[in-house]
Amino acid sequence: SDHSLDYPHAPDAVDWAIHYPTDPGPPEFADVGCGFGGLLIALAPLFPDTRMLGMEIRVQVSQYVQDRIAALRVTPDAPSHYQNISIVRANAMKFLPNYFAKHSLSAIFFLFPDPHFKQRKHKARIISPTLLAEYAYALRPGGIVYTITDVQDLHEWMKSHLDAFPLFESIGEEQLRAEGKGPILDAVYTSTEEGKKVERNNGQKWLACFKRIEVARET
Ligand code: SAM
Repeated sequence: SDHSLDYPHAPDAVDWAIHYPTDPGPPEFADVGCGFGGLLIALAPLFPDTRMLGMEIRVQVSQYVQDRIAALRVTPDAPSHYQNISIVRANAMKFLPNYFAKHSLSAIFFLFPDPHFKQRKHKARIISPTLLAEYAYALRPGGIVYTITDVQDLHEWMKSHLDAFPLFESIGEEQLRAEGKGPILDAVYTSTEEGKKVERNNGQKWLACFKRIEVARET
């Protein structure tokens, strides 16, 4: 359970040098429920100066990602030194604010999140009004929420909650590509293990992205 874990009491209590030894500091991208780490590994060489953190609740999976990053860091001919990506084993639904300070993120990713199909399990979904307030707090104005899923019902759910939340506005794929986010979108579609699985099964992918809006006189 969560009680057996040591969580930082606040973002400034995190020793970022453990995560990013060559350039310590707080991360700017968060991959929530990162699974096996495909997005982090795809983005690391594209944005070598951007620190990124994955959050994954499964112990073995998070350990696997940690080992994978450690191995990539010492691979001589790798396309990057992968010093800018790291992972924490954490329940993002409970402890996201412990890791990410106010307005510290420019991107937050929810790629192929668990669908929790049954109605009574909807509260277990990673997108909900309460959690959106936390995501809006961690994202800086202009920051982007990326969601993608192969489950249409979950897509509608995430979209409707994000649409209804006053601090987010929908932003289309074309607009994002025009703003230079094409490489990120390509990775969102294809880089993760779940995304590849959907491809193998010829499944459909639904993307929905939102911009954290600027608010006048925000406290
Ligand atoms: N994003 C990855 C991908 O696209 O391949 C993984 C997708 S997988 C279907 C969903 C992941 O979210 C699982 O690895 C699961 O363990 C993780 N997860 C579920 N709830 C979580 C939570 N509350 N905090 C952190 N990770 C969570």
